[in-house]
Amino acid sequence: MEQRAQSLDSAAVPDTLPPSLVTAVPGPRSRALAARLAAVESRNVTALAPEPPIFWERAAGANVWDADGNRYVDLGAGFGVANVGHANPRVLEALAAQQRSLLHAMGDVHPAAAKVALLEALAARYPGGGPARAVLGSSGSDAVETALKTALLASGRAGVVAFEGAYHGLALGALDATWRRDFREPFAARLAGRTSFARFGDADDVVRAARACPVPVGAVIVEPVQGRGGERVPPAGFLRALRERCDAEGFLLIADEVYTGCARTGRFFACEHEGVVPDLLCVGKGLGGGMPISACVGRASVMDAWPVSHGEALHTQTFLGHPPACAAALAALAVIDEEKLAARAAELGAVALAFLRDATRGNPHVVECRGLGLLIGIECDSAAGALRACADGLARGVIAIPSGDDGRVIAVTPPLVIGRDALLSALATLVECIR
Ligand code: PMP
Repeated sequence: MEQRAQSLDSAAVPDTLPPSLVTAVPGPRSRALAARLAAVESRNVTALAPEPPIFWERAAGANVWDADGNRYVDLGAGFGVANVGHANPRVLEALAAQQRSLLHAMGDVHPAAAKVALLEALAARYPGGGPARAVLGSSGSDAVETALKTALLASGRAGVVAFEGAYHGLALGALDATWRRDFREPFAARLAGRTSFARFGDADDVVRAARACPVPVGAVIVEPVQGRGGERVPPAGFLRALRERCDAEGFLLIADEVYTGCARTGRFFACEHEGVVPDLLCVGKGLGGGMPISACVGRASVMDAWPVSHGEALHTQTFLGHPPACAAALAALAVIDEEKLAARAAELGAVALAFLRDATRGNPHVVECRGLGLLIGIECDSAAGALRACADGLARGVIAIPSGDDGRVIAVTPPLVIGRDALLSALATLVECIR
């Protein structure tokens, strides 16, 4: 009998099972898939060397099975997406029902009813409490693009202050606000160059950065906790101070909560930790419970900078308001509320962080463990060490990936429904691999 790890008090969420490996990692089937992929995918996408990846075949809750039948504990939630667990049964049911009745509609012309319900749910979550409106998209980058366009329309100023270490996506508009040089440089000739970067965690530096911007600044975009930049948690009070600076300078505040949103940090939105109300909020990843959907949600008075559509929407896309994605998102939001996943992320995150700090004490290769809720990073002393630890962890059935500008941080962003014991045991494995 397999040992069952502790789970939520919910029949809907499967228990997290411990790793179970039946082949070497990666196994022969994953290797064969990697060889086929090499022939047909552009070479910049999936890293196939020095070792090929595992190819996922099935996932449920916080477990993933690969093509060779190996079972893993997922400490990444598929880039922070599976907040309600992989293949959450309520999300699957909602999807199936929606797919049977309407698979696709005409997003901005003759939309699906499901779009209305999702927009109502998102507007109701706008932390400002007042009237809010949103534009749906398919990816986090889409939400950021919409926020940047909205900020220009509402402020009349094209300049943006973002933060060192920021990751807002790789679409050309979002990329201009993304910090990492290696992502920007090959495309620099097509970037607007309208972003100036301030030190993350330093609200005063925004004023300096705004002065350095080549055009007048209309907005500041910030991740309340930097995600891909290496799980960087700013000092307490930073967001509040930033809100004050933005008000004093007349800048709109955009919170990019693509990673931090949907309960990951212990509140539905991370900005709620400090009672900060951004003018615009970007949400994606966990929103669709595994379906690709995102939104830019904003204060109605700001969103109303967009002109009324008379038939040709100024900003839309073919799959906007995709009915199954809307239905899945509604189900995921209901699960987050009913299962109290924000509180769970806060509690489990605190337990995990305390465990990691304790388990890595005295380890010369660990610089720091930090996090908020279940957005946690283990900063290592070298990128090679972090990469090796992730590879060794994978070979022992634990999925984790490095993050940070220089790849030195191991990201721990599991499904919020992961079993406590399974989480701690996967973390123990991972820590053993940092050597
Ligand atoms: N913003 C943040 C904060 C993110 O973490 C990400 C994705 N890691 C994005 C935007 C871009 O989202 P996507 O990859 O879905 O375009």
